[in-house]
Amino acid sequence: MLKLFAPDKYISGYAKVNPDELKKRGIRVLVCDIDNTLVAHDEADPSEEVKAFLQRVKDSGLEIILISNNVEERVCRFARGLPFHVRFYPFAKKPLKMTYRKMMRDTGYDRSQIAVLGDQLLTDMFGANRMCFYTILTHPVVQRDLRCTKINRIFENIIFRLLAVSGKLKRGTFDDEM
Ligand SMILES: [Mg+2]
Repeated sequence: MLKLFAPDKYISGYAKVNPDELKKRGIRVLVCDIDNTLVAHDEADPSEEVKAFLQRVKDSGLEIILISNNVEERVCRFARGLPFHVRFYPFAKKPLKMTYRKMMRDTGYDRSQIAVLGDQLLTDMFGANRMCFYTILTHPVVQRDLRCTKINRIFENIIFRLLAVSGKLKRGTFDDEM
């Protein structure tokens, strides 16, 4: 059970994603969470750094898809702020599987071709690991969270402790160079 919360890779920030490494693994799409993965939840638009990062991922040949639990207005505005078109799925209800399944039906990707980048163990990692996707946990962009996320973080702290005790993951010890 505990291993369903552990990411395959743990990085200090989204910019540490290595598209070449993902491609070597057979990955074809990077599914990104938005809030606190790419920008803070109260930043409506992608920053120049985020745009440059996503452009780099796209130029490497990977597709980018946004999957967020946030509302349509937020996710749509963020997606439209990017310099190229991306598929996006609001109200995803992560960690439930429904939106990931819909995305697979829409795109035709096999689960072995999908990597998920997110900042939360309880939603992003748990949901994506249950789908058998490749999972990348990033350190949150900022410490402030949406109210509902604050509750998740309490449980997340407990899971982080359990993962540390079992030797599966140590908070703040990143795999950036791998
Ligand atoms: Mg998030």
